[in-house]
Amino acid sequence: MNFIETRGNDGEKAIAITFSQAILSPMSSFGGVYSPESLPCFSLEFFNQHINSNYKKLAKDVLTAFEIDINDEVITDALDLYDGFDDATNPVPVVKVYDDLFVSELYHGPTRAFKDMALQPFGKVLSAVAEQRNEKYLILAATSGDTGPAALETFKNKKNVQVVCLYPDGGTSDVQRLQMVTEDADNLKVISIHGDFDDAQTALKNLLTSEKFNATLKRQHISLSAANSVNFGRIIFQTIYHIYSYLELVKNNQIAMGEEVYLNVPSGNFGNALGGYYAKKMGLPVKQIHIASNSNNVLTKFINTGSYDLRNLKVISTTSPAMDILKSSNIERILFDMFGADRTKQLMQQLDTEKYYQLTEAELTSIQKTFAADYCSDDEGLEYIKQAFQSNYLMCPHTATCFKAYDTCRTDKSLKTIAYSTAEWTKFSPVIAKALTGEDFEHDIDALNKISVIANITIAPQILELFNKKITQKAVINKTEIEAEIIKFLS
Ligand SMILES: *Cc1c(COP(=O)(O)O)cnc(C)c1O
Repeated sequence: MNFIETRGNDGEKAIAITFSQAILSPMSSFGGVYSPESLPCFSLEFFNQHINSNYKKLAKDVLTAFEIDINDEVITDALDLYDGFDDATNPVPVVKVYDDLFVSELYHGPTRAFKDMALQPFGKVLSAVAEQRNEKYLILAATSGDTGPAALETFKNKKNVQVVCLYPDGGTSDVQRLQMVTEDADNLKVISIHGDFDDAQTALKNLLTSEKFNATLKRQHISLSAANSVNFGRIIFQTIYHIYSYLELVKNNQIAMGEEVYLNVPSGNFGNALGGYYAKKMGLPVKQIHIASNSNNVLTKFINTGSYDLRNLKVISTTSPAMDILKSSNIERILFDMFGADRTKQLMQQLDTEKYYQLTEAELTSIQKTFAADYCSDDEGLEYIKQAFQSNYLMCPHTATCFKAYDTCRTDKSLKTIAYSTAEWTKFSPVIAKALTGEDFEHDIDALNKISVIANITIAPQILELFNKKITQKAVINKTEIEAEIIKFLS
């Protein structure tokens, strides 16, 4: 399968490229990204055959259908990384919380967030491709807290790859920050910047497309790529768990094969939701995808009005920092898929220059056929966390936003909902402790211990050990200094 450009072709880049090319250089003409030229189509028979497949078997067959240019051995090695999740036989538990609400837990990997679902195998695939080509890569990652740790974890000590991770100073939880600043492998560099996540992501996109920066790297025989979900190598792995979660409901007799469900996704850069959108297009019986946001509710307004409006907006710090995003990258792939490259280029360029765009009525109708959206304030989130805990379910603040969307977005109450839990509560313990006790906790470690007692659970060792590790990554700099700091690291 080939990949084509969301904003059309500039006459210099190739019109269509392979998967391996798309993951090695993810930016396309006019600042666009790559999207699949077509998608595989799965019949109910395919789904029926996989009701009892384990995660890796399903993943292998879905990836095979994409016909990507990665050899079987590499894919098998990449998928074997799911064996390192809490339960190798079931890396994605799907838990019934209410009669018609199931939570698919995507956070059972090494860094306790859903980013591991894609970044674990992606890291393996990308470094294998780099090694086969005998090329060296610098991988940039901008993070609002979870991509960073997951990218560092997957690439540490990998051959032919160095990683620079940018995060907003003060924009992450203690645990998220410790996961990054205690990494000590020689091929990893973590940089904290004065600014918010959008600043970090914009800096990343500017570097990816900067001729000067790319030329500087070329002289050192290094090429540049990115670990964010602009990279389709992430998205492909994020189609699989939507199918898997659906099949789990069928297997456990919660739905009949073919019965439609709602997917409900806590969204930031829209990678997770895009995976659900592709799964639906590939034939998964999904009625609609519900997009949950926090008070940074650009996506809610976009889906409800067709206006993507960043004018006079600033990122608000919330208790679900992984969703503190205004410029949601993967909306571009939806626009491209629904309205084509010319229109996407026009809309995205308008967003760059005028900070907003407005869809037509007809376009909005298409969007709303597939998506509905709502947002959840921090206070509402605390309430949802408390309520779910009364039903014996402990969840993170990102997952809580789904519970609001579950309350407000369903139009057919007879259908079941699969909501996605994107992080383990341990990464945001002061918020959870506040929801459960009403008290404020300044330090993650105190909150962790408190919850562990109240809920009578043990805390994952990957989290506890962070508090005793040495801090090795200390750079905190201005946006303007990023390029120089990276070049210093490389030499
Ligand atoms: C990354 C992340 C999200 C947002 O996912 P997108 O794919 O960027 O929309 C939500 N919750 C958590 C915990 C995350 O780490």
